[in-house]
Amino acid sequence: MPTSEPLPVVDGLTLSMEHRRLLRPGEAVRDPQGRTHLLPRYFHVLQSWQQARDTRVAPHFTLSELMSVDCREARLLLRRLPHFVPCAVTILARYLEEFRLRVNAPVMLSVNGGYRSPSHQFSGTPGPHLWATAADIYRIGDTWLDDARSIRRFARIAESIGPEVFVKPYGHGPGETDDHLHFDIGYVHVVPRGLDEAAHGHGNPSHQDDPES
Ligand SMILES: [Zn+2]
Repeated sequence: MPTSEPLPVVDGLTLSMEHRRLLRPGEAVRDPQGRTHLLPRYFHVLQSWQQARDTRVAPHFTLSELMSVDCREARLLLRRLPHFVPCAVTILARYLEEFRLRVNAPVMLSVNGGYRSPSHQFSGTPGPHLWATAADIYRIGDTWLDDARSIRRFARIAESIGPEVFVKPYGHGPGETDDHLHFDIGYVHVVPRGLDEAAHGHGNPSHQDDPES
């Protein structure tokens, strides 16, 4: 049964050493242009994939749609519970909902097309997917986004939402797409209430090390 109950959040700096090694909370990375960005630090905590499927982050989107990954994700993050997703994912969901309203059709994201950790095989060139603020859309209604015409048409609609929405141009080179629409809202940092940005975690032993249950 879909729910919109608030999810628990965690400061990534308090996670286990092995999770911090894979999620790298707050660490600096360089984008393809050589600009430095700090990776997300605060994460929603999910106890199962079923919970992600049941969690509605916007009227037409469940959390699982925005964080589906396959074996290209680090094994520990894919297999071990709980799962972690940066808190900005709910903001992305609002933008996708606005996009869905404007196109007036279901918006479908590919597997590995939402949040990907810094350890995911596709994260070699860091971009907003690592912040959970990007979505790769392969189909809208009956239209497959695999040609210049459809990608450009829906790119215009996405960009009409506001200047913070970025869509990669159609093309076959780096920074371009030819088989999906890459939609992002930039490097968004979310600091949930009740958390202290001056706190330093250093990996307290915590529930993340519990065996899968
Ligand atoms: Zn993308």
